[in-house]
Amino acid sequence: MQLSKKPPIHLVVYSMPQFEIMFDQYKFTAAERFLRYVQVDTQSDPQSNSYPSTEKQKDLSKILVKELQEMGIQDAELDEFGYVYATIPSNIDKKVPVVCFCAHVDTAPDCSGTNVKPILHKNYQGNDIVLPDDKLQVLRLSEYPYLQTQIGNDIITASGLTLLGADDKAGVAEIMDLANFLMTNKSVKHGTIKLLFTPDEEIGRGTAKVDLKKLSADVGYTLDGGDAGALEDETFSADGVKVVINGVISHPGYAKDKMVNAMKIAGHILDALPKDRLSPESTEGRRGFIHPVRIEGVAERCEIEFIIRDFDTAGLKKKEDFLRTMVDETVRTHPKVTFDFQVTEQYRNMKEILDLHPDVVENAKLAIERAGLTLKMESIRGGTDGSRLSFMGLPCPNLFAGEQAIHSKLEFVSVQDMNKAVETMVHLVIIYAN
Ligand SMILES: [Zn+2]
Repeated sequence: MQLSKKPPIHLVVYSMPQFEIMFDQYKFTAAERFLRYVQVDTQSDPQSNSYPSTEKQKDLSKILVKELQEMGIQDAELDEFGYVYATIPSNIDKKVPVVCFCAHVDTAPDCSGTNVKPILHKNYQGNDIVLPDDKLQVLRLSEYPYLQTQIGNDIITASGLTLLGADDKAGVAEIMDLANFLMTNKSVKHGTIKLLFTPDEEIGRGTAKVDLKKLSADVGYTLDGGDAGALEDETFSADGVKVVINGVISHPGYAKDKMVNAMKIAGHILDALPKDRLSPESTEGRRGFIHPVRIEGVAERCEIEFIIRDFDTAGLKKKEDFLRTMVDETVRTHPKVTFDFQVTEQYRNMKEILDLHPDVVENAKLAIERAGLTLKMESIRGGTDGSRLSFMGLPCPNLFAGEQAIHSKLEFVSVQDMNKAVETMVHLVIIYAN
């Protein structure tokens, strides 16, 4: 993707030698923080109905508040729902957009997050990394080609029994280091910066109790992406569809020419779904899908739940119409059978909002470029807290945090990628201040 050229005023600021020297002299703290944060178990729980879903997530959030206060950020606070809010006050007179950086403290329920033992592998040379607590867990360059970009870097993994939690403690540690950088380098001019650490992102409830009024930011960036230089400004648009089939019941001994079994019709519907397209297992890139996720029923009544995904919200409607027609054609062969077709909106592609605020993405592209990285524009085949925040009024693309092989025992992140994420945020706040 082509970078847009910005007015020279930014370049003047950027080329100040003092600024470059600053990164040379700055001792990054992201990795040191990360190694501590991952040892705090913060797994979220989709079965729980409380906010946060697990109380232990606050164990890390309390540490973050304490460390922010020690940096001199007085208003850092943890609320009852597990959200951390903090403000780095502006040090310029000009009024500029208030920028929020956001990361989630919880780790995925897919893989254990208890007793994480992080290991720092210095100066990686492309060799296999065998994780010591389970020798079957081997990180290989052939399976994770991104490792090719990490030769000579310092890589952090778990020990083989747990995930690492780079998703998203890499983002948390990077934002904490940004705060440390700004609080110790007062010559860097910036507007008001807000920090937000959320619980329960992995179970889709990361924004459920967020207080955007209290946050009062104009733009946001989640730090929850992968490769260095990656910027994600698109998510799926998503709907849920519930199809209810009402069959005809009678005593099975006397059912001839009377009974119509709803479960059998449901089976026909599932069988009629396309085999080589429109499914998660047959699509990638920008193609969406129709995906049955749950079926429940008896002979009289059967329910099928689908999720519908497309990058284009109009494309969602087309897929729903396709499904409705298919169900209708199947059901129509049984005159006494009826069906309901209920569509529920789940979330929308954040690009619809970001396109209304082009600077939010353009400034991030520029910051990535200034950090010396190659921009990788990517689309998320899913939803993020950023897409929800965008529709709640805080335009919020996703910046890289360096996390790789997430939700697995082979999860890793490099120290250098984390530091580049911090640099990118510093550039970003400077861009906003000009
Ligand atoms: Zn994440």
